[in-house]
Amino acid sequence: MHRTASSLDRALSGHELLRTDFRVPQLATTDLSGASVSETVSRGKHLLTRIADGDDRWTLHTHLKMEGSWRVYAADQRWNRPAHQARVVLVTADRQAVGFSLGIVELLPTADEDSVVGHLGPDLLGPDWDEAEALRRLLAEPDRPVTQALLDQTNLAGIGNMYAAELCFVSGVHPLTPVGEVAGLTRMVRRAKQMLEHNSERATQSTTGNLREPMWVYRRDQAPCRRCRTPIRVDMTGTAGRERATYWCPNCQPRG
Ligand SMILES: [Zn+2]
Repeated sequence: MHRTASSLDRALSGHELLRTDFRVPQLATTDLSGASVSETVSRGKHLLTRIADGDDRWTLHTHLKMEGSWRVYAADQRWNRPAHQARVVLVTADRQAVGFSLGIVELLPTADEDSVVGHLGPDLLGPDWDEAEALRRLLAEPDRPVTQALLDQTNLAGIGNMYAAELCFVSGVHPLTPVGEVAGLTRMVRRAKQMLEHNSERATQSTTGNLREPMWVYRRDQAPCRRCRTPIRVDMTGTAGRERATYWCPNCQPRG
């Protein structure tokens, strides 16, 4: 998400929109040509593209959900996804940014952004990252398994299932340990931020630093642990209806 945000940011920020096309019913008559894009930031999985139209400040709020993507093309380049999937087209003098199959497309005054993303906890990669607040939220329910607490975007935004698994491994923490009993929680959160920062600009994600063996435990069930050769375990955890595959090494991450 941060990569999408930064590629949109690089492509559009500071540029005037020569043409806009919103192919969703509620914005069918919206035209922001002549406005200029200030920036695109991500909050969790939400993308916020801020646009100045005269004295008005608008935020285009998009969310990729499952199938969506934003692609940036040169002005004369053909799209590599079907045109009927396009939901938003933003055209500057030398770029076209096209949002395909987006899950959410809405335009709101920038002052109202909190109404759509205010429920999210501090963003690990955000300019307003607040470690103390993230820790406070994580520890508000001390009995919750650490994996669930880390995945809950209202605690802190940015950790997906892969990072949660990898983070527990590098911290030597069993994924079902109650979050209140994790001794090095602050260190764990700082590691999460480092992992996300390391990967935010890379095409291939890796938590090991080795691109040929990019993961410690994630999606490695039954494969030998890279540290101790014990087979990696996987189990479905989480609340009913929202179970996630959780991976861990039973030797390196003993249950406390
Ligand atoms: Zn191990």
